Amino acid sequence: MRSQSKLISQAHPTLNLVHPTPEVFIWNTIIRSHFRHGDRSLPSVSAPLSAFLRMRFHGVNPDFYTFPFILQLFQIPSYLHLGKSIHAQIHHFGFVRNRFCQTSLINMYSNCGDMYLARKLFDEINLPDLPSWNSILTGYIRIGLVDNARKVFDEMPERNVVSWSSMIDGYSRCGDCEKALQLFNSMEGSKPNEFTMSSVLSACGQLGNLDKGMNAHDYIKENDMENNVIVATGLIDMYVKCGSIDRARDVFNKLGPTEDVMAWTAFISGLAIHGCSHECLEQFNNMLVREVRPNSVTFVGLLSACAHGGLVSEGEAYFDRMMNEFGISPRIQHYGCMVDLYSRAGLVRRAWDLVLSMPIEPDVLIWGSLLSGSRTHFDVEMCEKAIGKLIELEPMNSGAYVLLSNVYVKAGRWKDVKIVRDLMKAKGVKKVQGYSMVDIDGVRHRFVVGDESHPEIRDVYVKLDEIMMKLKMEGYVGDVKEVLLDLDEEEGKEMALWRHSEKLAVAFAILKTGEGESIRVMKNLRICSDCHVAMKMISRVFNREIIVRDCNRFHRFCNGICSCNDFW
Ligand code: ZN
Ligand code: ZN
Repeated sequence: MRSQSKLISQAHPTLNLVHPTPEVFIWNTIIRSHFRHGDRSLPSVSAPLSAFLRMRFHGVNPDFYTFPFILQLFQIPSYLHLGKSIHAQIHHFGFVRNRFCQTSLINMYSNCGDMYLARKLFDEINLPDLPSWNSILTGYIRIGLVDNARKVFDEMPERNVVSWSSMIDGYSRCGDCEKALQLFNSMEGSKPNEFTMSSVLSACGQLGNLDKGMNAHDYIKENDMENNVIVATGLIDMYVKCGSIDRARDVFNKLGPTEDVMAWTAFISGLAIHGCSHECLEQFNNMLVREVRPNSVTFVGLLSACAHGGLVSEGEAYFDRMMNEFGISPRIQHYGCMVDLYSRAGLVRRAWDLVLSMPIEPDVLIWGSLLSGSRTHFDVEMCEKAIGKLIELEPMNSGAYVLLSNVYVKAGRWKDVKIVRDLMKAKGVKKVQGYSMVDIDGVRHRFVVGDESHPEIRDVYVKLDEIMMKLKMEGYVGDVKEVLLDLDEEEGKEMALWRHSEKLAVAFAILKTGEGESIRVMKNLRICSDCHVAMKMISRVFNREIIVRDCNRFHRFCNGICSCNDFW
């Protein structure tokens, strides 16, 4: 009976005929057998549950082995009501103080996000075991209560790798990446595993801290985890976010022919945001050759590569294949890519038509794409429509107002510029201050527009002036139009452009690093067109590779050319 689960399943109907009331252990075996057939991550609910109900129908009373099996079925919020009814049965049959049942209930409530009940049961247990502590810890993290989780973590009488990994993951997920790395460095008593490392890598990627990311990579190499596909995917993602697509490519190639869709997707998306559109499409074909089935995220990467590369007909074809060949219905991100694709290519009307025909309510990103598309192609009327929607959705976001006023500036509609400014003032909308960061010898330096606070700012300005004079000799002319809104009129417009935070960061890096070294800058806003021109020239005149991560994408300036082909 216990030997082969498959046999049990086959025997199941016969059992009903032979023994109308088989014993509970047989039923437990039957229930358990159904688990092994389903998908491992999410067992099918109906088969084991119907076995349980049949058992009850035959008048067999469950025991404390039965309930933990059944509770395993209800680990997502939409099944919470079923989990609760099993909880009632546990009461009814008097197993509420049974350790197995208690632990399973805590786990179930915690996975379903009901931390009030999970915690209540947990507090009722005398000397809870480590899995119960971990359940509570991960439960808090799942619903975003990281501080509560930390409290639990600090109170735990012992911790294992699950506790450490979950806590590090919690910090990394909520964007508190410094804390994630601190905790990783203080990890003791357990050895990091692939899950720990993937959270650590995610933290490094979010920080855009290449040095720390490379340290983590060293640790991974020393501990022979590089070929683990979860870790490799984390590495690819980290290098992509830290601006080093070459290192990401190395990791991917070292991984060898993989069948893991996550690794492929990380690489494909990375190529897309780094502007390697053609390589991205090529890799997608390689993926299909290997018979790896793309998922919805893979298509987000692929379509955004088409958008960034201006590949309209390819993008349309992939969008079509995604739906018809792979049966993936488009989500808001896919529509976003398509709108972006059309907007960037100047097909603003087509973008608009797509938005109107979408079965999903367009979000801020979609209106934002339409706005910047209309803006690049001077369609003032479309801009106004898009901004109306944006302000409706996010009345306090300054980005849209700034873009709109720039459109009016370019169109020479000064009265409207003033109206937008007054509107911002009246509504109390504050402009998000732009800043750029650069890491030198492991120390992060932050510059704002017209910075006065950096300790070496005088030297930076001297260096920047020197750089800009050199560029002028090479034919640089400031693109003053975009900055008008940022400044008081009397200030020298071109001088003000010189003081943009990304220029300061690059000047500082040139001052502090050796000839020919790459420079990596992170900016919180979109890079302006003047800085874009300047970066291209600096990369050529000073023979430096400059990588700027702005809020949208990466720009890799090399020998006077940017990887985005001036299309961003
Ligand atoms: Zn700028
Ligand atoms: Zn660029």
